[in-house]
Amino acid sequence: MAEQKLRKEDTLAMRHRLIGQSCRLFYSDDPVKIVRARGQYLFDENGKRYLDCISNVQHVGHCHPAVTKAATAQMDVLNANSRFLHDNIVLYADRLAATLPEKLCVFYFVNSGSEANDLALRLAQQYTQQEDVIVLDHAYHGHLMSLIDISPYKFRKLAGQKEWVHVAPLPDTYRGIYGRDHPNPGQAYADTVKDLIEEIHRKGRKISAFFAESLPSVGGQIILPQGYSTKVAEYVRSAGGVFVADEVQTGFGRVGSHFWAFQLQGGGFCPDIMTMGKPMGNGHPLACVVTTVEIAGAFTANGVEYFNTFGGNPVSCAIGLAVLDVIEEEDLRGNSIRVGAYLKDSLAKLQARHEIVGDVRGVGLFVGLELVTDREKKTPATKAAARVVKKLKEEDRICVSTDGPWENVVKFKPPMCFSTEDAELVVRCIDRILTEMKTSDLKLENEDI
Ligand code: PMP
Repeated sequence: MAEQKLRKEDTLAMRHRLIGQSCRLFYSDDPVKIVRARGQYLFDENGKRYLDCISNVQHVGHCHPAVTKAATAQMDVLNANSRFLHDNIVLYADRLAATLPEKLCVFYFVNSGSEANDLALRLAQQYTQQEDVIVLDHAYHGHLMSLIDISPYKFRKLAGQKEWVHVAPLPDTYRGIYGRDHPNPGQAYADTVKDLIEEIHRKGRKISAFFAESLPSVGGQIILPQGYSTKVAEYVRSAGGVFVADEVQTGFGRVGSHFWAFQLQGGGFCPDIMTMGKPMGNGHPLACVVTTVEIAGAFTANGVEYFNTFGGNPVSCAIGLAVLDVIEEEDLRGNSIRVGAYLKDSLAKLQARHEIVGDVRGVGLFVGLELVTDREKKTPATKAAARVVKKLKEEDRICVSTDGPWENVVKFKPPMCFSTEDAELVVRCIDRILTEMKTSDLKLENEDI
């Protein structure tokens, strides 16, 4: 076991004293102190094992030995900034390019999803010479000021909506304006973007970008309806804008059938700019923006150098290459398809038995379980969702989190080595918790618990 430096209560006291209180802990009432991890398992200071359904960042598994080996081997030889010519950055870009449509072929390496999205915004605005951005309702694109401005999830609680930011309805076919019974929800939701563009034009403004996650995650694990992105891209491009896909949560094969979630749209759909982050370095801070030759050309033409001290350094790129190798060698996309389907089907069976399960949706190992107190009205069961999270941790040592505008969607985005046995355990425990909760907790939903 890893060496224990501090007793848990001392760590907690120091954390309260030294770390900004807005940096919240999971399970703030009684946080888990994790001292080591492997694969999809976390171990606390007493050596107790927790199943991790939260860490999409540790994509190929916590502390994967191949990633650690690549990192330490490169650290031992050289780590310098990317102004020195080095093989790793070009070899890595070349490997990433092989996973993408041909037109996405110019890479900028950065250190976080936020940096990637901030740069994507700059690229779009520089290329189009316009400022305005369309985003989806409830979206989150990062913690920089530029991204708070384009994240309704944040700006609604803070400074409010800037005049250059426009919010399109979330294409949520469970609780949005067009449901699954609509003959063509993809087209119908895309038309809301068309209408919004017309409204923007009426105000005498022009758009630079449509910015969206390929599967809106903070919005509640939403699966975009077929045809939506293709149509939106058509409207956005004909208005002079570009389509930016945020794949910070959804990339690197999480959806199983494809390497990138935007590819789920089919029909050759391809964004003009795409950002990636979280899973890219398996926990090492590594993120990236990829775009077309034309957009990159406009960015170069402004004559200002783009330099990022840590982005694309030899160690980061060695780690990125190792992550790609593991995804392939361990067939993690195949695992995501198999285990994801099992998890989704098993959760759907719970829906048949528990009134509180309003919807089960997902693709690969990106799955959401939406809880409601009333199936007809789709009233969010926020407190019940919080109870499920708490009980799974306390009674079963399983870590899950919630998302969605009402925090009533229990979400699953585990490391990609998550097994069928893990999925079976999680579903069995949720079944037990929902059975126990059935009568008492639904009543509590409207009271303070
Ligand atoms: N985009 C999305 C979709 C995200 O989920 C996040 C992080 N939750 C970000 C961007 C920002 O990434 P980071 O925290 O690495 O800056």
